[in-house]
Amino acid sequence: MTSPADDLIPIRESVRALCADFPGEYWRALDRERAYPSAFVKALTDAGFLAALIPNEFGGSGLTIRAAAAIMEEIHASGGNGAACHAQMYTMGTLLRHGSDKQKQKYLPAIARGELRLQAFGVTEPTSGTDTLSLRTTATREGDHYVVNGQKIWTSRAEHSDLMLLLARTTPRDKVAKRTEGLSVFLVDMREALGKGLTIRPIRTMMNHATTEVFFDNVRVPAENLIGEEGKGFRYILSGMNAERILIAAECIGDAKWFIEKATSYAKERVLFERPIGQNQGVQFPIARAYSQMRAGELMVHDAAARYEAGEDCGEQANMAKLLAADASWAAADMCVQTHGGFGFAEDFDIERKFREARLYQVAPISTNLILSYLAEHVLGLPRSY
Ligand SMILES: Cc1cc2nc3c(=O)[nH]c(=O)nc-3n(C[C@H](O)[C@H](O)[C@H](O)COP(=O)(O)OP(=O)(O)OC[C@H]3O[C@@H](n4cnc5c(N)ncnc54)[C@H](O)[C@@H]3O)c2cc1C
Repeated sequence: MTSPADDLIPIRESVRALCADFPGEYWRALDRERAYPSAFVKALTDAGFLAALIPNEFGGSGLTIRAAAAIMEEIHASGGNGAACHAQMYTMGTLLRHGSDKQKQKYLPAIARGELRLQAFGVTEPTSGTDTLSLRTTATREGDHYVVNGQKIWTSRAEHSDLMLLLARTTPRDKVAKRTEGLSVFLVDMREALGKGLTIRPIRTMMNHATTEVFFDNVRVPAENLIGEEGKGFRYILSGMNAERILIAAECIGDAKWFIEKATSYAKERVLFERPIGQNQGVQFPIARAYSQMRAGELMVHDAAARYEAGEDCGEQANMAKLLAADASWAAADMCVQTHGGFGFAEDFDIERKFREARLYQVAPISTNLILSYLAEHVLGLPRSY
């Protein structure tokens, strides 16, 4: 289901060819075991797709965010799931924009080669959740190290990553003028920290998503692993969020395309009352509606990506892209189950698996309410609610 006037057809075709080696059976087997798609992630890494956004000077492909979005969309449109590795694509953005030259030279080429995995992003905590500025994990300077104590939750892929980008408080909240100050970002080498105060515990979820909770008990992080300036970390994390939203919105568009394609094919083939079910408008209309919702979301993803690429502020568009695309994929998921009747629930059709996977994007990486609240307050100028 290619988009009109799409100049990214060659990259889309390469991703599709790669994904053809990882069909429904592959994802289904992993889903049953809640196992990590190592072979798929290796293939994507070897093909250079996960290094799409790393500039050429650091050994990456130096592609645009539109190309990166096309990669993620195609993975999802093929029936696969990029959540196992999407963070490798954009988490390095914080290091790229705010890291020192030494840090960039040390890490980015190795990440681009796939020798070093930067898949883990530790922001959310059990007690603070969406209220990021209330996080409790602390990093206290002791000589040439910081000592980290606290807990993160929903730290996805921590067991499959060498490094974690961690947000922690370096100055207590009552000692800073603004709540947004006093937080800092660190690159934690989990290979060194495991067993030395760092504990990772997997969380089993309704879909196959390698997510975990992570405990820090006096974990020592070298001071040279601080990214940018101490106390400015919240700003650094925020600056990476537009890219994250655009890429995840593209995944949702891919999911919506997959559901629409499945439903359309099935509605043409399934014959009841001596005619295909797709001949009934009661079956056609929900598919047509899902299609138009998907195309609207897709336009917003393209708009946000074009603005991002032009270096413009795209907070409004990136948030709306995520909102519309997540809604489109969820509506398409529901429609697809309904079109398939009972078979929508059968494991072998992959629909129930993709349905469970699509639900996540109403909540993560940012929940629908928080996007609406951003639009209400920052775009429409309504009074701040919290
Ligand atoms: C599978 C999975 C993977 C994840 N991966 C990562 C990861 O790798 N790294 C990471 O840091 N985080 C990760 N997250 C966390 C994710 O970003 C959060 O779950 C999400 O931001 C919502 O936070 P919360 O779960 O704490 O919900 P809460 O903040 O507790 O919110 C609960 C509900 O209340 C609503 N709500 C809260 N405050 C308001 C308000 N003021 N107005 C209106 N509604 C409100 C929310 O919209 C939500 O629906 C992941 C989560 C999941 C489920």
